[in-house]
Amino acid sequence: MIKKNERHVIAFSTKTQLEILDDGYKWRKYGKKTVKSNTNYLRNYYKCSIRGCEVKKRVERDGHDSSNLITTYEGKHNHEINSSIIYNHVEADSEFELNSQR
Ligand SMILES: [Zn+2]
Repeated sequence: MIKKNERHVIAFSTKTQLEILDDGYKWRKYGKKTVKSNTNYLRNYYKCSIRGCEVKKRVERDGHDSSNLITTYEGKHNHEINSSIIYNHVEADSEFELNSQR
């Protein structure tokens, strides 16, 4: 599921047991909220930790299928990726792979 609009909102769902997908950016948690339709799960809010960058991320479980994690990004980063660890892109239903660097 991918949707996009003029406010640069991108949402996608991934089958994973992880609570947070490492996308290479550093995030600071700034809030959480109980989801009305699904009180078993919290919706967590994150903000990019780079000063001056206004990108926000929202992470929640799919109320219909709790094995799906829904991640929503809002905004565009105004800087390069800031992690030295490069993770392979994670596709739904594929195995989580990462390049281990020694
Ligand atoms: Zn950023």
